[in-house]
Amino acid sequence: MHCPFCNTEDTKVIDSRLVGDGLQVRRRRQCTVCNERFTTFEVAELIMPGVIKNGHLREPFNEDKLRRGLQKALEKRPVSTDDIEMAISQIKSRIRATGEREIPSKMIGNLVMDELKKLDKVAYIRFASVYFSFDDIEQFGSEIAKLQAKETQN
Ligand SMILES: [Zn+2]
Repeated sequence: MHCPFCNTEDTKVIDSRLVGDGLQVRRRRQCTVCNERFTTFEVAELIMPGVIKNGHLREPFNEDKLRRGLQKALEKRPVSTDDIEMAISQIKSRIRATGEREIPSKMIGNLVMDELKKLDKVAYIRFASVYFSFDDIEQFGSEIAKLQAKETQN
């Protein structure tokens, strides 16, 4: 790594430690020429596939959007921020596991539904009602009935 002071190529690491719950590495470096010290942070780059909307429109994967969607569905529900973050990382790893460079936005919607189903049934119905934009109450009702049937099974 080039020294930011004198631009020489030769710098050495004098200290290295994990920060941010072990997700970052902080390194102290020293230039072997001018002896100036500087700090670098290293973070793993996890490449997420692009998202295809409506079969053609392509956009980068947006974690904030995913988080907002979940938060909205879980508004005033007894689900902790930690559980939401766990759901997000679960969704992300399932997306990465596909190994695809591009995925349809519908797939993210389905993964969100899977997670919401586990977290909170009310939020699941809330999200599903928007996601599927149920135009008839019958369709919505049958989705609820499916959930209730599952609940009596358990
Ligand atoms: Zn230097």
